[in-house]
Amino acid sequence: MAIFTVTASPQSATWPDCARFHPVPIFFKHMENPLENCLFCKIASGALPAHKIYEDTEILAFLDLHPIREGHALVIPKAHHIWFEDLPQALATQITTCAQHIARTMKQMYHVERVALFYTGIHVPHAHAHVVPMHHVHDVTSAAYLRDGPDSFSAPPQLPADEMSAIAAKLRESF
Ligand SMILES: [Zn+2]
Repeated sequence: MAIFTVTASPQSATWPDCARFHPVPIFFKHMENPLENCLFCKIASGALPAHKIYEDTEILAFLDLHPIREGHALVIPKAHHIWFEDLPQALATQITTCAQHIARTMKQMYHVERVALFYTGIHVPHAHAHVVPMHHVHDVTSAAYLRDGPDSFSAPPQLPADEMSAIAAKLRESF
């Protein structure tokens, strides 16, 4: 007897289970008094300590307390913005420019070919860009790449060309 059933839409039928059935939880949408309750606002204001890398009036870069790799850094706006897509363009550019500088330094420090930059926003509801020196192809990987285990790198299945065209068209419409 099945404990539960999952209905997959036709277009997602080729995706691995890990990509289909475990959506990212949405556990924050609004925070009262972020200066008192937001971990990164507290760090930005100096109320909590951090291993700071760079700071100006708008942004702050510091080391992640739970690094994927040595040097794993976060770059945040000092103002409380939850979603990276809502950052003012100039502020987003400041963050990216800072991350580029850190990445160039990390390449020299750690002798890595590449440095990853990504926003996920899973744990703290304050936009933060991760900057991670990549020593291994799976350092910042998706579980979708791990279908055949951590020692391999499995390309997620391709979608049919007509589905890809439709997806691209939908995204293109917004510009
Ligand atoms: Zn905040």
